[in-house]
Amino acid sequence: MLNIHAYTFGPYENCVYVMYANVKKVAVIIDAASGSFDGLKKCLADHEIHLFLTHGHWDHMCEAAKFQRELKAVVYAHKADQDWFTTEQSKYAPPGIFFETIAPDVWVEHGQMIQCSDLVIKVLHTPGHTLGQIALYMESLGSVFVGDTLFRRTVGRTDLPGGNFDQLKDSVRRILYTLPEDTVVYPGHGEKTSIGAEQKHNPIVPLGENSL
Ligand SMILES: [Zn+2]
Ligand SMILES: [Zn+2]
Repeated sequence: MLNIHAYTFGPYENCVYVMYANVKKVAVIIDAASGSFDGLKKCLADHEIHLFLTHGHWDHMCEAAKFQRELKAVVYAHKADQDWFTTEQSKYAPPGIFFETIAPDVWVEHGQMIQCSDLVIKVLHTPGHTLGQIALYMESLGSVFVGDTLFRRTVGRTDLPGGNFDQLKDSVRRILYTLPEDTVVYPGHGEKTSIGAEQKHNPIVPLGENSL
């Protein structure tokens, strides 16, 4: 059985998730928050690593280059956040935080299926929090990793460059809320939830009568 290992790193309490394949020493990581490299390098050292960045904000990607360089991780992200991965966010990262720009190895697209040993990931492009925000859906685990799009009973901020609240609502309703209700939602910060629970109880983006 595949397990989802959830960790919290950094000053914004970012969630970082690690999944191990059953048949080979292959690991999938979601996001590379501040402190995650030192926290995870020992358990990952002898693995083939696939690192997915949900979006380009510094708190989710500031250590991605360390995984890429030192553990030969393959880094995946959406090109619409390219500015964030290179320079734009340096003005948002607090002083004293290790921050390094990243050149992702693979630019992913909506609907793309990526197979890492027996771990199969479907990329969903869910703009709104940022232009290049993605969700990673793993049907076999009944789980979706949503970054900062959807949180338990709330949604991500849309006041930073590239943010757009109408677009975020549209992404939540048209893409995330069409996943099976029992899909577990693993956000970039805070507690996990489920698609069904947010459809019913999310006060910011309720399912809505005319939403789909
Ligand atoms: Zn963010
Ligand atoms: Zn965040």
